Amino acid sequence: MDTKARKTLTEAVIERSHADSWEWSRLEWRVKGLSGSARATCVCGQPGLVRRFVVANTVTAEELEPIGSSCIKHFGSHAMNDQLKDLTNLLEMEVAAATRPLNIKVDLNRSKLATLYTHGAFVPTKWNGGEGYNDYRFLVDMFNRRQAPSQRQGWKTSALLRDVGAFLKATGSGERPRLRVADLGGAA
Ligand SMILES: [Zn+2]
Repeated sequence: MDTKARKTLTEAVIERSHADSWEWSRLEWRVKGLSGSARATCVCGQPGLVRRFVVANTVTAEELEPIGSSCIKHFGSHAMNDQLKDLTNLLEMEVAAATRPLNIKVDLNRSKLATLYTHGAFVPTKWNGGEGYNDYRFLVDMFNRRQAPSQRQGWKTSALLRDVGAFLKATGSGERPRLRVADLGGAA
C-alpha cells in the first residue's frame, strides 16, 4: 500500500480509537466479519476490493468498512490475522460447497479443517462418541493420508463432508453466523 493509502487508513483508525497514536490504537481493533457494503473502495481509498470486511474497535465500538485484507494485515495484529484467515477459509470453502460435494484433498487443508472445527462445523453425535473433535481429527488424518483410504474410511469421509457442506451452505447464505465457537489450543 502506498503512503497516501497508509495515511488515510491510520487517520481513520486513530480518529475512531480511544488511543491517539497508531502504535496503540491499532491494538483496539478486531475483524468483525464481511461487509454488506456494495462499495468496492477500501477505507484507505484503494478501489477494486474483491473481499470486503468490517473491522470494529473493541473500546469505542466504532466500525470501519469496507476494508480489504492488505489493510487488515497492516494492523500487524495476530488476532486480526487469525480472524482474516478464518473468514477467508470459510469464504473459499463456501464457494466450493455451493456447487458440488467437497473433496478433502482439493477443497480442504489443515488450516481450513481447523477453521471448520473452531467455527462449530463438527457437532457431537452418537457416531463420534459425543465429541465433534473426533470427526475433526478423523478428517485431518484422512487429509494427511498418502495411501487410498479403506472403503469404510471413504464412506465416513463422504458422510462427514456432506455435513460440512451443509454447514458451509448455512454460513454462506447467512442462515448461520460465521462465529468462532471453540478453540483448538495446541492441538492444531
Ligand atoms: Zn485498504
